[in-house]
Amino acid sequence: MAPLKMLQQLAKKHGTPLFVVDHNELRRNYTAFKKYLPRVQAYYAVKANPDPAIVKTLYDAGASFDVASMPEFMVVHEYIKNLPAKQRQDWIWDKIIYANPIKANETLRELDQYKALVTFDNFEEIRKIKQYAPHSGLVLRLKVSNTGAMVELSSKFGAASGEAANLILEADKAGLVVEGLSFHVGSQTTNFENFVQAINLAANVFKEARERGYTKMNLLDIGGGFPAPYDATVKPFRELARKINAEIDRLFPKDIQILAEPGRFMVATAGTAISKIIGKAVRDGKLCYYVDDGVYQTFSGILFDHCQYHMEAFKKGATRICTVFGPTCDALDVISMAEELPADLERGDLLYSNNIGAYSVASSTPFNGFPPAKVVHINR
Ligand SMILES: *Cc1c(COP(=O)(O)O)cnc(C)c1O
Repeated sequence: MAPLKMLQQLAKKHGTPLFVVDHNELRRNYTAFKKYLPRVQAYYAVKANPDPAIVKTLYDAGASFDVASMPEFMVVHEYIKNLPAKQRQDWIWDKIIYANPIKANETLRELDQYKALVTFDNFEEIRKIKQYAPHSGLVLRLKVSNTGAMVELSSKFGAASGEAANLILEADKAGLVVEGLSFHVGSQTTNFENFVQAINLAANVFKEARERGYTKMNLLDIGGGFPAPYDATVKPFRELARKINAEIDRLFPKDIQILAEPGRFMVATAGTAISKIIGKAVRDGKLCYYVDDGVYQTFSGILFDHCQYHMEAFKKGATRICTVFGPTCDALDVISMAEELPADLERGDLLYSNNIGAYSVASSTPFNGFPPAKVVHINR
């Protein structure tokens, strides 16, 4: 995180609400990911924060990208355009996976010209891909346990393991090529056994497909879910990495490419939100601060991401447990009912929240006419 003094200066210069992205922190996260998971190529999940400047910094650091819509695809595609045609094909699989298992016909038709790598998890999708994007490489998304994740995804996506080989053979019969398997253990997974189980499940599907005559799979995508260090209960990344490395080395030969789709891990710690106190009241005996950013803006992750953020004041002083409200007229717009903040903050004083880089500005809305936080980039 940037020094407090610098954050205050930025807020003075740009006004609030403000969202500060530290690009050194993005590079540090990418480097740590590579260091602890040397066999794994990181495909940054653009949905966590699709800011093109973030994509550029991670691209320059060596990252590839997981996209889930055509607009996200185009943010990354910027970098392909200028390559010679010959390099483009290899490049695209090395650099992009379209990891949304359900795609509209129109999306597939558009994707087909890029011959992209796309995920699927059901028979209907095979028929759609066959009709609209037959030049794609396919990756089968498996349903895996999401127990203990902050955000659960397994109810919406993933083929049951009992059905996986049938899907692979069906795609093969349709003349499509299944390049490998993927899964997602759930976002902010602090239960590291999810990864161990999922990698073992994928190894079993590889084996069954091979036994039934399908030998073209050459990649395993271990998805996202790598936790951000929101608090001290999150065990260190290197512990998770040690488990993952042990399983992939034990179960997957060296010629199988290993991909991952970290979103939160790359950006969460790189973002800081700064807001300003615009009102102050005592309700039912409790001190309430009203600030100019809320759950319809940068703090949208409180609703969509089930993430609780903490607020801190730049000013020090005797604290009380306070409520912090966002600026809209909706009573849902509560940042926190229990923040320990100085009791004597005044209108115009600033608050900040750390580790808010993921699933925050990405899902900001213009509800009630309040503008999104201004984004500033440091150490670019
Ligand atoms: C959201 C998502 C990710 C990123 O997940 P994180 O928990 O942020 O790492 C990766 N892959 C897929 C398919 C996703 O939907």
